[in-house]
Amino acid sequence: MSDLLIKNGHLIDPACGVDGPMDILVEKGVVVKTGRKLTAQTKKVIDARGMWVTPGLVDMHVHLREPGYEYKETIKSGGEAAAAGGFTSVVCMANTDPVNDCASVTEFILETARKASPVNVFPVGAVSSGLKGQNLANIGEMAEAGVVAISDDGKCVMDTALLRDAMTYAGMFGLIVLEHAEDHRLTAGAQINEGAVSSELGFIGVPNVGEDVMVARDIALAEYIGGAIHFCHVSTAGAVEMIRAAKKRKVKVTAEATPHHFALTEAACRQYRTNAKMAPPLRTEKDVEAVRNGLADGTLDVIATDHAPHARVEKEVEFEKAPFGVVGLETALGLARELVREGILTRTRLVEVMSLNPARILGLERGTLPEGAVADITIIDPEASWTVDSSRFRSKSSNTPFEGRLMKGRASYTIVKGKVVFKNAD
Ligand SMILES: [Zn+2]
Repeated sequence: MSDLLIKNGHLIDPACGVDGPMDILVEKGVVVKTGRKLTAQTKKVIDARGMWVTPGLVDMHVHLREPGYEYKETIKSGGEAAAAGGFTSVVCMANTDPVNDCASVTEFILETARKASPVNVFPVGAVSSGLKGQNLANIGEMAEAGVVAISDDGKCVMDTALLRDAMTYAGMFGLIVLEHAEDHRLTAGAQINEGAVSSELGFIGVPNVGEDVMVARDIALAEYIGGAIHFCHVSTAGAVEMIRAAKKRKVKVTAEATPHHFALTEAACRQYRTNAKMAPPLRTEKDVEAVRNGLADGTLDVIATDHAPHARVEKEVEFEKAPFGVVGLETALGLARELVREGILTRTRLVEVMSLNPARILGLERGTLPEGAVADITIIDPEASWTVDSSRFRSKSSNTPFEGRLMKGRASYTIVKGKVVFKNAD
């Protein structure tokens, strides 16, 4: 007797070249068969008529806040938010307390996730000890413990020599460096994008060049040493253009965009809305257009949320005192679906940027569903209409800039290792 049969769905699996009606049979957490009109004795059948069936979505950039900031999010609540958003795997950044810069913290995260999270949690180790930007963290030790990449995210690796060493060591362990590209001296004291809205609100702004100079530096370094670099949350037209040019020269560069950077402009910060404050900041129409074009033409490889939960009391303060960051796990799929409706992404491209590409960049055995693959599967109702209501989030935090937005498309089922971990009850 098999465990699960998903029938009548439309399977989109770019790595297998599939975009059509296909059933999936699952046994012991593994895909045992895909094909038309499968029949089998099974414990459970899901009728996926009218649905998109995809390899489980992978979010390669989240902040789960545990250990250290459990009042904002835990590995459990973040995992539940991920499942509700259609993600079967999340990749969590190292800026916890203590920082994930050694094997014991990596092991704690993996062990807690095994017990508490409904989805796979893949930790990222720090580049530098304590995220201080001075000495390399013990990359070998963390690689052995199970980190899938290294990053000082939240902070840029400002010391170019340290970054060079990080890229070199990471490469030796089959890892990649995920860079938060920001020249912190150019952005000191800044609140939002430097431009019309920052003048209007009287804030110090973050100029595009604060991101562009670091993207330029990292590309030059990667090209020189033959190393690989991945850019987190690309937000400027200039960065998109440099990454496009670098890819043409075959530099080992990959990059991600967040839903908020393709869906919103700096205008969202008006009325001092602290839920539109994040780093990098929301930019201009021109930048949003560039990010969208980058996703469309393959310059940007991934949609990742940069899910950054903060408690209500932290965000409900004067704008300048509010922390940077927004939640994203439970709204990303609906926003990506908008790009398909607008003709910016095809369905296949959506699966590439939300599942296949992040898995490939990090070397995770995910992102495709051939026979024998781990049965991490997302079943998406592409037409389901819903309204963002943060009071219904599984996340412990509700700092979304998309409150009240009408969405079309959401996860109906999220399946991890053959087990349904989320079923939409609406
Ligand atoms: Zn970042």
